[in-house]
Amino acid sequence: MSHKPTSRVPDPLTEEHLSLPAGSHFEVERESDSDKLAPVRVLRRNHPSDTIVAVRGVAVGGQELAIVAGPCAVETPQQLIAAAEHAAASGAHLLRGGAFKLRTSPYAFAGLGEAGLKLLSEARKISGLPVVTEVVDEESVLLAAAHVDMLQIGTRNMHNYVLLKQAAATGKPILLKRGMAATMSEFLQAAEYILAAGNSQVVLCERGIRTFSDFTRNTLDLNIVPALKQMTHLPVITDPSHGTGRRDLVIPMARASVAAGADGVLIEMHPDPERALSDGYQSLDPDEFSELVDSLARVASAVGRTVSRRGQ
Ligand code: PEP
Ligand code: MN
Repeated sequence: MSHKPTSRVPDPLTEEHLSLPAGSHFEVERESDSDKLAPVRVLRRNHPSDTIVAVRGVAVGGQELAIVAGPCAVETPQQLIAAAEHAAASGAHLLRGGAFKLRTSPYAFAGLGEAGLKLLSEARKISGLPVVTEVVDEESVLLAAAHVDMLQIGTRNMHNYVLLKQAAATGKPILLKRGMAATMSEFLQAAEYILAAGNSQVVLCERGIRTFSDFTRNTLDLNIVPALKQMTHLPVITDPSHGTGRRDLVIPMARASVAAGADGVLIEMHPDPERALSDGYQSLDPDEFSELVDSLARVASAVGRTVSRRGQ
């Protein structure tokens, strides 16, 4: 039996109902036209070749893996510069660090704001690594766009469609994290918002989802990596730091991500994880990070990928 609505079903999405002036360009699709509502720009069937996202000259997607590394939060100049120098020396390609932190507790360190963005731009000059930071509202989008090379939309904001459009409008590449309870379709449609706003530079990041499993902070959903690679032409990376919430599991799950076809990984790395103001328990120290890059290079070659070591 077909459930397709007939023309007699009242449709509230009409110009008349919304009292729009005659002749106005009303381009919202009707719910009944499910084909038009489906994501179209993100789908590989409409764009067979892989999209390669360029972040100030660093390619994400394609043959070479992209390794994003840095502290959860920008804390001090010394902390960030140490992290940046180590990230570059060990072979990371992009530097991360949060200046606007969405913390579960309202009393936890919430980031340095604009001062943190200025430190990121300083760290880029010193390390040569392009920088990525999370944006949380319109003000942070505008500030971050002036200082950094890529804007991150975090798991808590994947469904914030207003923010997605504001970030897209900057023209900066976007690192879009999967909502912690988002389906693959919702994740792809969030990306579709950015592409529909005219910005095709989107990297998808699987960062772990909520499950009943209680030995990790989240469950890194590696199933979605090959599934996304089939469905979309956008690059896909994983974040085994938030995906596990456990330092001891980060290296194995980063290796597994690359084996599953991820185009890169995002890793929290802190010069002194024990003293980190956020997420220290899941942050690698510099030596562990070097070990990770070496071991990723071996997995990469087993699956026909490469890790460029320009930093060395
Ligand atoms: C982060 O990358 O620091 C972060 C807050 O990630 P998520 O939004 O995935 O929790
Ligand atoms: Mn974090």
